This record gives sequence, structure tokens and C-alpha cells, in this order.
Amino acid sequence: MGATRAIIRLDHLGHNIEEIRRAAKAARRAPMLCLAVKADAYGHGMIRVALAAAELGVDCLAVARVDEGIELRRAGVSLPILLYSLATPEECAEVVEHSLSPLVADEGQVRLFDALARRRERTLRVHLKIDTGMGRIGCRPDEAPDLARAVVECGSLELGGVATHFAVADGRDPEYTKRQLAAFESALSAIRAAGIEPGIVHAANSGGLLGHPDSWYDMVRPGILAYGYYPSDEQERRLDVRPVMELRSRVVFIKEVEAGAGVSYGVTWRAPRRTHIGTIPVGYGDGYNRLLSNRADVAINGVRYPVVGRVCMDQIMVDLGPECSVSRFDEATLFGYTPGAPTAEELANLCGTIAYEITCNVGTRVPRVYRDGGQ
Ligand SMILES: *Cc1c(COP(=O)(O)O)cnc(C)c1O
Repeated sequence: MGATRAIIRLDHLGHNIEEIRRAAKAARRAPMLCLAVKADAYGHGMIRVALAAAELGVDCLAVARVDEGIELRRAGVSLPILLYSLATPEECAEVVEHSLSPLVADEGQVRLFDALARRRERTLRVHLKIDTGMGRIGCRPDEAPDLARAVVECGSLELGGVATHFAVADGRDPEYTKRQLAAFESALSAIRAAGIEPGIVHAANSGGLLGHPDSWYDMVRPGILAYGYYPSDEQERRLDVRPVMELRSRVVFIKEVEAGAGVSYGVTWRAPRRTHIGTIPVGYGDGYNRLLSNRADVAINGVRYPVVGRVCMDQIMVDLGPECSVSRFDEATLFGYTPGAPTAEELANLCGTIAYEITCNVGTRVPRVYRDGGQ
């Protein structure tokens, strides 16, 4: 195996899911758990994470693309699979074929899914998505009862649930989320008043799970928390979650350079003194963001060394200091769970983004190595 790989600690995933369960159990009844495995499980590897989640007793999985759902079915996943984004009309037959549970937000979709399910003599379970302030997909709250009725009356569809999604549940100010919840509540009441049973009611992403217990309903829908990160730095960190992914590589080359020696494209860094430069074969082609040039640290044998010069597509350089104690082929942690090493969150802050994007961007050429313990 090459030097660069992402260690995926499935035991940490299990631990985080237990923590989420423990937190959500503070509710009167424990809600079900739907784990987002979209975008290759936030970069962790969709199939392995999905199979582990099924073993951990997760109730439902969620993807964003129809192709992702099909891949899960082909891997033998039999759990319910929610489709968080909308399918194109051409994809809808496959949604039915593979028993994915789409979110529906308009009558046209309801009619199409009904026709496709009828043709296959099947019943398709759909979830009604209400837009209460995210402004992405979903019907208006006042349209929800008619749409729910359209679902239950059309014969080949079953109303599996009613859902909404939060825009700022991970924020400091709860007001906007409270307004979203109030809009969701009134839509739910109107659906029930119309004599329609809404099925599984769900709303909470990681932010809602952490900050809004009244949003837990019948099912919570975490993603990032299960992968060991908080959705933002604005919420109290009361769960003990651990990063699941660690991006590692090795120092493949070390050389001593004189003061003034330039490093990497554009020569944005010059040695201020005689020092040792280590080369690590990881770069933006692996998802190690170029914005980390001259900013991030890398941990080697428990010590942090600064990235110097620009991040290249396939390599970075670190300043190992005048008295170099690193040996060639020593292991380097770019980010992850090792105490003292940078976390994905730390790198995200340096890049002006969120931990989600750091783990998602770890490239497909980086092998994922699954572990159930160890280091
Ligand atoms: C991705 C997603 C989630 C999970 O969000 P996190 O912030 O990672 O917890 C939940 N619901 C929907 C609709 C999503 O798209």
C-alpha cells in the first residue's frame, strides 16, 4: 500500500452512534435513528459504513442520489433508504425498482411515483417534505395537507413519514429554528385534522439533535455527529464524539537545507535558518486543501510540524527543524483522532469551511483502511 491512506475507525462510529442514542433517549421515547451515508458517507466509504450501521441497529439510512441508493441495495442493504434529494423523472423508475423512499414535495412527483409503482404492482413508501424555512426542497406548509391526501388517495403510495429540514439548528440563536418548528407543527396538525396519519415524523439533523429536543419526534437524522464532529462551533459540546476518519501518510524524503532555501511552487516560503525539509506524498489531489499552504500543521511522532510552501497536487513539505528527530518513512497524521494531531475541524477553520467538506473531499485515490480498534 502507498503511504497515504485514511484510517476509518468503525469502533468510533459505533461509539458515536451510542452517544447519539444516549442523548436522544433523554426524550420520553427513544426516537429511531436515520444515518446519512450520502457522499460516500461523508468520505468514510458508504458501503462499509452502511453495513456497520446496520449491525449497530441503525433504523434507516439516507442518501442524496438514486445511484447511491442502488449501490447500497446491490451491496445487500435491506434497511429503509431515504432519498434526501429529488430524483430526476428518468430516475424515478429506479427509485421504485430498488424500494428507495423518496421525499416528495409536489403533486407531479406523487402522480409519477404512483404510476410507476402501479405498473410494477408495488407499493412505494414516500415521505412528505415540508419546507419550513430551509428554502431548498419541500412544499409550503399550507400545501401539506392536500399533498398528504394526494399520497394516501392514489393507491400505490404509502405515506411513510412527514419531514422538514433545519437551516440554522446548529446556531447560537434558537429563534429561527423555533419558527421552523412552529410551521412544521401547524402543518402536522392540519394533516392530522384532515384524518391522515403522518407516519414517521422527522426533522432533526445533528444541530437539531444537539440543540432542539422538541425536534426529535419519531426519528432523528444525524450525519456529521456520527462521524465525530459537531456541525458548528456554536453549540454546547456535551456528547463525547470521536472522529472516525484519520488521514495519514509518511515522510518519504528528508533533506537538510541552508537558510534562504525556497520551497514549493511560487516559492512562498524560504528557510529562515538552516533546517530540515520533509516531503509527504499527500496533496490537493487527495483532498488536502491548497488553502492549507503555509498554514496547517502535520503531526509526526506526537509533535506538530508546519506545512511550508504551497500544497502541491500530490505532495506537501514540512519544516522538521534544525535538529531533525523525524526519520525517513515515519508516519504523519494530516488530521484525525490522534490526540494532539489536527482535527478535520481545525483544518476546516484554516480553510474557511466546515469539517463536513474536509472529510468529504478526501479523494477516491486514498485507500480507506477499516479498523475496529487499535490506533
Ligand atoms: C445531510 C442531511 C442530514 C444530516 O445533516 P448533519 O448536519 O450532517 O447532521 C439530515 N437531513 C437532511 C435532509 C440532510 O440532507
